[in-house]
This record gives sequence, structure tokens and C-alpha cells, in this order.
Amino acid sequence: MDTSEIRRRFTAHFEAGGAWGAHTVVPSASLLLDDPNLLFVNAGMVPFKPYFLGQESAPYPRATSVQKCVRTPDIEDVGKTTRHGTFFEMCGNFSFGDYFKQGAIELAWDLLTKPVADGGFGLEESRLYPSVLAGDDEAAELWMKATGLPRHRIVGLGRKENYWSMGIPGPGGPCSEILYDRGPEYGPDFDPATLGPDMPVELEDRLLEIWNLVFMQDELSAVRSKEDFDVAGQLPKKNIDTGMGLERVAFLLQGKQNMYEIDVMYPVIARAEELTGRRYGADKVDDVRLRVVADHVRSSMMLIGDGVTPGNDGRGYVLRRLLRRAVRSMRLLGFEDRALPELMPISRDRMGETYSELVTDWDRIAQVAFAEEDAFRKTLQAGTQIFDLAATEVKSSGGGVLTGDKAFALHDTYGFPIDLTLEMAAEQGLAVDEEGFRGLMAEQRQRAKADARAKKGQHADTSVYRGILDAHGPTEWLAYETLTTESK
Ligand code: ATP
Ligand code: MG
Ligand code: MG
Ligand code: MG
Repeated sequence: MDTSEIRRRFTAHFEAGGAWGAHTVVPSASLLLDDPNLLFVNAGMVPFKPYFLGQESAPYPRATSVQKCVRTPDIEDVGKTTRHGTFFEMCGNFSFGDYFKQGAIELAWDLLTKPVADGGFGLEESRLYPSVLAGDDEAAELWMKATGLPRHRIVGLGRKENYWSMGIPGPGGPCSEILYDRGPEYGPDFDPATLGPDMPVELEDRLLEIWNLVFMQDELSAVRSKEDFDVAGQLPKKNIDTGMGLERVAFLLQGKQNMYEIDVMYPVIARAEELTGRRYGADKVDDVRLRVVADHVRSSMMLIGDGVTPGNDGRGYVLRRLLRRAVRSMRLLGFEDRALPELMPISRDRMGETYSELVTDWDRIAQVAFAEEDAFRKTLQAGTQIFDLAATEVKSSGGGVLTGDKAFALHDTYGFPIDLTLEMAAEQGLAVDEEGFRGLMAEQRQRAKADARAKKGQHADTSVYRGILDAHGPTEWLAYETLTTESK
């Protein structure tokens, strides 16, 4: 079943709604919504936040959407797990004070298990494992009633997996992640009755999470961490927020090993194979690189489509990093020519069926992406030799650490971002003295400020900043990873 058919069936299922009532179909919002806590929309519920927070009243009691999402914190997992993309589409159904746990459970189970001939996904019941927050007996009972499964088949997981909040006081609630057992090739055997409270890492690719049902019922007065918070009471209006990973269901239904092999992604890998002469499936390291290429080409195209341009901070930096990682992965696979003009049009052809703006706006998108590749190629040409020389020096002297000086010189003279230096060093089995690097960066900033003051001929009053520094100490540079938080 191709991805567009899965999307269509999901939407049709909720648009009809059956006994629980028709859902209003809401188109995907842009990846760039104004939200002080998020760089990018990272879940289907984000555009509906004002309704969930009670800031606005929802114009409909129920809604369904297929939302474009970007999760930069998942970037390191891309290509290594079977299931994480930096861009993905989240299919969701939402109830604003309308149906609650029972409706969400019945609607999800029905779609997943309904035969393909009847408009469902036809997944085998024996492979599906609903999970609940350990102790949420109400949800466990409802699952048993909806599915006919015995109690020991309903997995109880802890707050890490199955409690949702926004990390701040406000709404929160238990979740039910629906897991699909892909079989013994993907992980060890398990006993659902004794699983938890955490999902063991070695089972994450076997017991694939495909859908998360969030039961928003609590009012949180304090949130100290994902697992440590105070529930002040129940929300006056209880809501449902769910998210099903389109690509995850697609790779199950298409009989593929992972999300990078589905109909809308694999053609980019196929083209990269032609360009590089490498064969997907022949080498583990190459395979990860090919998947990174497929993921990053698509994500960066979707970001440019929504108006992001490469830059040195915030959203622009995320885009720059994705584009550069795609280009560099192609080089590591042995292809040194311009790669994006070969690869991005393939992604456009697949995604353009759903997002027609990719086609109508193609000239602009291509221009932004290709210019960034050209600039990066120049940077790489200049810096790679210097990097290799430095790496060889360190190794031949028996060391394992690239000095802060060297990392700084690469940054300062050749425009190498520190994450690139870190990645290239790691590939050679070297560490980098990041602290030293940051110290030199800070010194350089100080010098630049002093220069600016000298030029202006006046002395800036920095006492306010000094006070903050004295009170809190220097802050650690955490790049952009910490700016986006996963929502569930
Ligand atoms: P995981 O535990 O696998 O990282 P999650 O619990 O972070 O997933 P949710 O925040 O619950 O994911 O999002 C709802 C659904 O969106 C998930 O059940 C999954 O199907 C899908 N999803 C989440 N993150 C990704 C991703 N990086 N790539 C593809 N699909 C994703
Ligand atoms: Mg999860
Ligand atoms: Mg989840
Ligand atoms: Mg996650």
C-alpha cells in the first residue's frame, strides 16, 4: 500500500468517524509556526495548541490531520534506527472535550486491524501490543473491551514512555503507545506481562511504536522532569491528541525493513546508488550514509519549501546542517560532484504529489539548496586537507585528541562548523578538545567586542551581564539541539 493511500485511508476513517462522529479534515500547517518553545512543528497537535490550552475555543469538536513534522533531536538516530527521520508526517485525530479514552482506543484499533479490502490497514492482531501507563487501569480495561485481548497482553510502561506533558505547568496526561511486534529478527523475545517500566533499548526496533494516543486529563502545577511532576487536578474538558507515524506504518505495510526504504524515500537512495556505484545492503556504514542522504535531502527540501534559508543560527542553521550532512555523506560514499541537483528533484517528484507547492515553487527551492551546496563545496575543499593533516599529526604522535587550537583554526580560517569537525574527527577515531575550542571562541568574541567599543570610542556598560555571569556561571553552548523538544 503506498504512502498516499495510507494517508487517504487514515483521513477517510476519521472523516467518517462512525459511532464517534465525523472529524473535520484540517490540512497540514507550515513547519514554521510561531511558538516560543519550538523551532519547528514537531507533532500533529502543535497547530491545535490554543484549543488544548483553552486559549481559544475549537471551531469543531473533532479534527483529523496529516501534519508535516521536523524533529532535529532525532538527527543522530537517522539511518541507525529503522524508524527515525528528521522529517516525517504525523497522522492524527483530535477531540476537543468530545470523545475520550474509549473513542480514541476504538477508532485506532479499528483502523489498524480492519481488513485492507474494507479500507483498513489489515495488521495482524496477534502482532499488536497496546501499552498503557502502568496503573492506568481504566485504559487497560478499555483496551481489553475493544480488542478482546487478555490483560497480560496489555503492556504497562512508565512515565518516560507513556506520560505526556509540555514540560511546563498546564495540561498533561497518560498515553497509550501502540506497539507492533516485527518478530525475532529485530530483537529478543519478551513477555508483555513483565515489560516495563521502561522499554528496553534492544526491543525498540522489534516492538515498533506506531501510534501514540494521548489522554489529556490532568492539570499539572509543576513539572520538574519528564517523570517528576505534580498533578493539581483534572482538566474541566478532557481532550484526545493522537499521532500515528505515516512512514512507520508505510514500511510495515510495504514489507520494508525501515522507513528509508518506502515508496516516497527509496528512489533517492536508488539514485545515490547509481551516482556512487555503491550498492545498498552491501555494507553497514554505506547503508547508514545512504539513508542519511535520503532523509536529509527530503527534510531540507521541505524546510526550504516552507521558507527557511540557510544561516548561522536557529532554523537556518538546522537547514544548513542537514544540507551539509547530505552532501558530505555523498562524498564519503565516493561522489564528489554536485549532488543535490541529482537527488533533490527525485525527492520533489515523490513528495510533490502531496505537497504541490514543491513543484510550483521548485525554482526557488532549487536555487537555495544548490547555492548552499556550492558554498559548502568550497569550504570543504579548503578545510579538508588541513583537517586531514592535523588528524594525521595527532595519530602519528600517538594522541587521540584534536586540540582546541586546531578546531578553532578550522572554524576561523576555513569556516568549518564545530559539529563538522566533531563528525570528521569521530570518523577517524579522534576526540576534539571542545572546551579548548569554546574558550578560544569566547576569547575571540571578547576581542571583537573590545574592538567594537574602541571603534565607537565609548565603554559599554556590561555590569548587567557581569551580574548574571557571577550569579549563574558561564553557560554551556548546547547548539540548537536543545531548542526543539519532542512533545510526547
Ligand atoms: P520514538 O519513541 O520511537 O522515538 P516518540 O515516542 O518520540 O517515538 P511520539 O512523540 O509519540 O513519538 O510521536 C507520535 C508518533 O510519531 C510515533 O508513535 C511515531 O509513529 C511517529 N514518530 C515520532 N518520531 C518520529 C521520527 N523521528 N520519525 C518518524 N516517525 C516518528
Ligand atoms: Mg516513544
Ligand atoms: Mg510516543
Ligand atoms: Mg522519539
